[in-house]
Amino acid sequence: MQHRIIVLGAGYTGAIAAGRLAKRLRREDVAITLVNAEPDFVERVRMHQLATGQDLKPRPFREMFSGTGVEFRLGKITGVDVDRRTVAVVDANGAEELAYDTLVYALGSGWNAQGVPGTAEHAYEIASRPGARRLRERLARLDAGQTVVVVGGGLTGVEAATEIAEARPDLDVALAARGGLGDWLSPKGRAHLRKVFDKLGITAHEHAAVTGVEAGHVTTADGKAIPAAVTVWATGFAVHPIAKATALEVTGTGQIVVDGTMRSVSHPDVYAIGDAAMAMGPGDKPLRMSCASGTPAAWQAADAIAARLTGGKLPNTPIRYFNQCISLGRKEGLIQYVTADDRAVQAVLTGRLAAVYKELVCKGAAWGVANPTLGLPTRRRRVTGERAAGPAVRAEA
Ligand SMILES: Cc1cc2nc3c(=O)[nH]c(=O)nc-3n(C[C@H](O)[C@H](O)[C@H](O)COP(=O)(O)OP(=O)(O)OC[C@H]3O[C@@H](n4cnc5c(N)ncnc54)[C@H](O)[C@@H]3O)c2cc1C
Repeated sequence: MQHRIIVLGAGYTGAIAAGRLAKRLRREDVAITLVNAEPDFVERVRMHQLATGQDLKPRPFREMFSGTGVEFRLGKITGVDVDRRTVAVVDANGAEELAYDTLVYALGSGWNAQGVPGTAEHAYEIASRPGARRLRERLARLDAGQTVVVVGGGLTGVEAATEIAEARPDLDVALAARGGLGDWLSPKGRAHLRKVFDKLGITAHEHAAVTGVEAGHVTTADGKAIPAAVTVWATGFAVHPIAKATALEVTGTGQIVVDGTMRSVSHPDVYAIGDAAMAMGPGDKPLRMSCASGTPAAWQAADAIAARLTGGKLPNTPIRYFNQCISLGRKEGLIQYVTADDRAVQAVLTGRLAAVYKELVCKGAAWGVANPTLGLPTRRRRVTGERAAGPAVRAEA
């Protein structure tokens, strides 16, 4: 009997994990199914580019996974039952339940309105493709001189503000940050960010916690109103509620708690990767929601599953950070080098070279997804099957 592996979500991490599993396990021994709500890969790291009118290369999953040993299923996951080991899927033919022996949960995240009044009604988001398309249409209808406020001074907010200002120099673009502009960067990194903001004419509202969004403006904690014909909400990501509704151990925000092999600490036949997982990184700090840590987490999960199923050696590579690659429009960039636990060090790369570097990183990430089994040595091992049957066992049992 084949061991059934279901991977939920074909974003950066799910697609990579599915391809790697296919390279690691003998085809006769496993049935690997990858389920995703959309038929093509969404390059989330380019949503600010999509929002500013750039077109992204279509990457259909059926083509990508053809002949790889991974079956792609188009469908929306509506629930997971970790005790019965089933997932509920709705597709064009209706609702269905799929049974698994091993589950890889990689459903990613969406925008995080953080309960701020008015966001749902008035703000735009770029954490998803529909959100980015909606913003694209709205920006295209703005007249010269109109105001855009990006809320959120993190990586996504900074990338969005610079991209919009570069694409639409006729607009009045501002960024509202809870802290100082780029306050997590090194002094050189901060100085470069300020220089690019000045060049692009972006107003930085620092130490401005936005507490409300209304038609035409946002309000801050100190009572200021900042004019905003369009408000772009970029204050971090929130996970989908599916995991929280299961018996899996999750954090207060709904991320699945996993160990160093990305295995659920409560249900050993479930693995979680990417934004959906809460894994500890170097310095006992949780890994942040990013491709930078999600990609190695996907490799780790696939290798751990393969090792456990075949009696091989468990992977033990610590997941660490090297740099933060920040686009500042198409012509400028900032590569901030960091410690293993993601703290800025002195070294930075700036300017056109940094923009090219960032572009190569984005291209490389998409290439890894689009060619799921290329560039990886084939080491297909026989599944011994000892964990293929039997009831789900809680890790602490
Ligand atoms: C504008 C922007 C810029 C970014 N820039 C960077 C960057 O420079 N560097 C970096 O490291 N990170 C960056 N990120 C973060 C990065 O995109 C995410 O951390 C990464 O996409 C997470 O990968 P994932 O596989 O966990 O989830 P995702 O890539 O979000 O994939 C999740 C998949 O699950 C599918 N899915 C969701 N719900 C369901 C359902 N119910 N049923 C079926 N399928 C479902 C989705 O369609 C999607 O295909 C950026 C994000 C944004 C929005």
